[in-house]
Amino acid sequence: MSKTHIENVKCPKCQAVSEMTIWEFIDTSNDPQMKAQVRNGDAFRFHCKSCGNAPLIFYPTIYHQVNEKYLISYVPGDPSSAETYMKDINKDNESGYDFDNGYTKRVVSDMNQLREKLVILDEGLDDRIIELMKLFIIADIQNSQNELRITEIYFNKDKEGERSFSIRFDNDKWGGTAFSQENYDQVAKTFRKSLLVDDEVIIDTEWAVEMLNKNM
Ligand SMILES: [Zn+2]
Repeated sequence: MSKTHIENVKCPKCQAVSEMTIWEFIDTSNDPQMKAQVRNGDAFRFHCKSCGNAPLIFYPTIYHQVNEKYLISYVPGDPSSAETYMKDINKDNESGYDFDNGYTKRVVSDMNQLREKLVILDEGLDDRIIELMKLFIIADIQNSQNELRITEIYFNKDKEGERSFSIRFDNDKWGGTAFSQENYDQVAKTFRKSLLVDDEVIIDTEWAVEMLNKNM
């Protein structure tokens, strides 16, 4: 079941108050339209009745893509409470779903991470392997062009359907590198045993570094 409530939100531009639907819990079997709206940002779009301004206003939500057994909690800012909540989500759970049965559970704290996780889900890939691949890509790039530091890196699929990694450097310029299925398969194979027993919900660079150290 999805869960929503209405909130009165003040327009950041004209200060007039309009109602906004807040999705506390999104269940795609009840609300399949939310699949697209979470991906394109419309789930977070506020519409001002007074001036027509339509900014994005981010709020915490839990997105459940039922057929894929995928559960992701988005908490802007500090994810620690969501981490505990997500790990215990099957206790006193009245949703009718068994979240311990084959579910992928994730917690993210910013919108770019949420978008990336959903691209990875749509591509049928494992975000843990993607995060490990990023470490190797970062190491490669920092070894070859030392003057620029990488500040962000995201898995991406472009309009032509090509998979790649988008990379932001500390001069604010973006670059990219191709996604290699061969490297993906190799990383999957190398870390297979550790990944089987891993049950973390925050899968990011920090997680990948720890995973790498465990396997050194
Ligand atoms: Zn307004």
